[in-house]
Amino acid sequence: MRFLKSVYYKVLKFKNRLLVGRPVLVLMYHRINDVVDLPAAHLTVSVADFEKQLQYFTTNYQILGLRDNWTNLKKTGVVLTFDDGYADNYTKALPLLEKYNIPATFFIATENIDTEEGFWWDRLNQDYIQCDDTFFLPGSIDKVSKNNNLLRSLSIELTKLKQDEKREWLEEWEKKNGISYLPRPEYRSMTVAEVTAVEEHPLLTVGLHTHNHYPLGQLSYDDQKEELELSIQKLKELGVKKIDYLALPHGSYNTETIRLCEEFNFSGVLLANNYYSNIGNKHKKKINRILMPSLSGKKISEYLKKYD
Ligand SMILES: [Zn+2]
Repeated sequence: MRFLKSVYYKVLKFKNRLLVGRPVLVLMYHRINDVVDLPAAHLTVSVADFEKQLQYFTTNYQILGLRDNWTNLKKTGVVLTFDDGYADNYTKALPLLEKYNIPATFFIATENIDTEEGFWWDRLNQDYIQCDDTFFLPGSIDKVSKNNNLLRSLSIELTKLKQDEKREWLEEWEKKNGISYLPRPEYRSMTVAEVTAVEEHPLLTVGLHTHNHYPLGQLSYDDQKEELELSIQKLKELGVKKIDYLALPHGSYNTETIRLCEEFNFSGVLLANNYYSNIGNKHKKKINRILMPSLSGKKISEYLKKYD
């Protein structure tokens, strides 16, 4: 079965290559940092690994931006994108992007700009690490045992809550377990000055990632519209001139999301589905993306070759 599946994908890839040209690997990064919580390690790439990856891309791929023309490629294309708007994208990733002259798009969730606040998922992980082996959940009198499946399901449940409900839940959890939460500078979002500098930088483009980072596929048309309008307004206030791509928080969307993207006249939405893209995706305005983990050496090509 597995063999048949792999043959099927190879044929599909070959057909795609003949009909629509070479693949473009649109890579998705979040944090570039050496400070990392183990439960969220897949969302952080170390500074050293990031530089190794940039070197690998420079030698092996044709480096592109989202707005570039993806036709007549001489090599497999690669596009770099960063989600959420972490300050380290500016302080740690940018100096390396400059060193290798590599363009990138920063998709910034606007809620935490210019605050010390961490994102709720980073706060969840930070609190979880501080919990004892058994701990209390909000609204429960019995203790539960630490395990990664539990953490994952807590994260899924929290994703469904509104921002103040999340905060209440986390505060209650911290209180019940005697945890003190202090936002960490390594997890902060960009400041206004940093967002402005990103907008003005010739290698960088600012993209939309909503205001509250809610999964759009779980919201009504009106709520999705409000999320998009609010974040567009915030970015415009910070001087961002052209907002033409939306990276979907949690990769979540529904038919209303696609309708809204047409109404806002976006050039494309970026998914989080671990699949390669090509010029066909640009025409359909739905761009597949591949989560890039912290890897270096041979592991980079081993990881990417299944998409190439
Ligand atoms: Zn995100």
